[in-house]
Amino acid sequence: IVQWTPFIQTYKKHKYPWVQLAGHQGNFRAGYKQGTILKKLCPAEEKALEGIMVDILRPYVPRYTGVVEGADGEKYLQLEDLLSSFALPCVMDIKMGVRTYLEDELAKAREKPKLRKDMYEKMIQIDAKAPTEAEHKAKAVTKPRYMVWRETISSTATQGFRIEGVRRGDGTSSKDFKTTRTREQVLSCLSSFVQGYPHSITRYIQQLKSIKVTLEASSFFKTHELIGSSLLFVHNDSSALVRMIDFAKTIPLPENVTITHRSPWSEGTHEDGYLLGLDNLVDLFTVLEET
Ligand code: ATP
Ligand code: MG
Ligand code: MG
Repeated sequence: IVQWTPFIQTYKKHKYPWVQLAGHQGNFRAGYKQGTILKKLCPAEEKALEGIMVDILRPYVPRYTGVVEGADGEKYLQLEDLLSSFALPCVMDIKMGVRTYLEDELAKAREKPKLRKDMYEKMIQIDAKAPTEAEHKAKAVTKPRYMVWRETISSTATQGFRIEGVRRGDGTSSKDFKTTRTREQVLSCLSSFVQGYPHSITRYIQQLKSIKVTLEASSFFKTHELIGSSLLFVHNDSSALVRMIDFAKTIPLPENVTITHRSPWSEGTHEDGYLLGLDNLVDLFTVLEET
């Protein structure tokens, strides 16, 4: 059990421990304005948020109100706190897409393809049969090889999303989903997340469908690849919401490149699999609604 509560948030005189399901703990602070949080500035994310604020996607993203300086002198993005209208919410972070690294990161890793013993060790701890004969012999793998393999141990490569973290209604959290891979495993995790909150399933399906329709019409989405971006799910007894968060690796597509956000990725295509993941999520929540 992990509890990620980097600070106590105040909203309308009501205080609650803020919940953080991913990322470095030092990256977030309480905001200056009511109902806001601060996330450490990353220039790519700032650009993406500026683009989204003037796109039809705006309602599906936390309101972004500019760059501010934190008490530590660092620059932060000021964002709407999606938890502020909830008391004791259940929260889930789902990282979207069929890969979570940029093509540039892979290319960079390939420049000096040094053999890595640490990555080999991590690999055999999860799957002793994953390395090739040559890799076993060397007791090492290259970083690009490891990066591509790592997406196959969760549902990322096959379903176009993976569960990053969950905070349940009883206050327990878990981030132990690295190898949650099959449709059945994911379904059982989603099922326990909404357990006892049947209204949330219907709301989630409605909102995921609105997000999908909006993405398909969005000019921002048409011109960007979304890597490592998440959907944040929040519900309690009375309400439920899903929003798109984390645009640190949301970058403009190269000129003359268009993507479907659905087709399989191979290097050079820039496909991100965002819509594939969204389709699969809608399917899974629909299964839960029918059972
Ligand atoms: P990583 O790249 O490792 O995923 P990150 O540093 O880019 O992490 P985010 O993914 O943006 O950070 O956010 C981390 C966590 O913080 C989320 O999983 C969520 O729990 C919480 N969080 C982020 N933004 C918001 C928000 N606007 N409102 C409420 N909670 C948020
Ligand atoms: Mg994230
Ligand atoms: Mg991030």
